[in-house]
Amino acid sequence: MKKIHCHWIKLIFVATSWFSCSVSAAGMPIALQSQLDSLLPEKARQALLLIPDPDRKLLAAQGYLHAGSHLESRWSWSDAEIKAFEGSPAQAELLADIERVNATFRAANPGYRLYFNPKVRSLDTQIAHWNSNASVALAASQLWRQFEKSAWFTDESEKLIATQGLKTWLLTTRTETKSNLATPGLSLHGRMHAIDFQIQNDKMQLIAEADSKQIETVWKAQDWAERLKRAIDSAGPRFHGPLTAPDEPWHYNYTVEGVSP
Ligand SMILES: [Zn+2]
Repeated sequence: MKKIHCHWIKLIFVATSWFSCSVSAAGMPIALQSQLDSLLPEKARQALLLIPDPDRKLLAAQGYLHAGSHLESRWSWSDAEIKAFEGSPAQAELLADIERVNATFRAANPGYRLYFNPKVRSLDTQIAHWNSNASVALAASQLWRQFEKSAWFTDESEKLIATQGLKTWLLTTRTETKSNLATPGLSLHGRMHAIDFQIQNDKMQLIAEADSKQIETVWKAQDWAERLKRAIDSAGPRFHGPLTAPDEPWHYNYTVEGVSP
């Protein structure tokens, strides 16, 4: 698009949200999109295609760059890998480890038991969460605002964006708040290397859920965080946690011999 046309369009759009020349159908400046493509491996590029919002896309790209050489080994299982896990000795071992923790927990807390989701969190599920989660929206908008103010985002930026410069900018720029979710594809739940434990009562009702709104009022106020940790410490040597950033008293990483999370 020629510059003069661009200025006219900018006048029309000035009262609305941001607008830049040469914007792709997905809403991301084409120059930025192509630079991200050149920085990221194929798996990450494919995932970005399923994230329509440019700011969430940029935040995900930042997560992929931070993962660096670990991206491949951490990447969530494909459908075929998930299928191969079902019924495997590895799955049987995990279930036995969880049951040991649960038995210890039940003995210490009569009337209560642990609940967990036995399904691997697929990449599609992770992307759907990423596209709708409020903490992602907040961190993504903060990153995008900084990006707009940076040298990388001006009318002339299409020429200025240099691959290595953009990479350094993304690796060194911090947002005021962090998203509560792992970048899609990089969640340890995507390889069953993490378990979210929830608490159920006798009637199978969830009374402490994997929900950040319940951390203070339920997990800490009713001591479930400590009670779960005690059961894990005494019966779950392969579980490590809980996750502290973000604060998730229900989330424990699971390390199988020779495989680091
Ligand atoms: Zn988790």
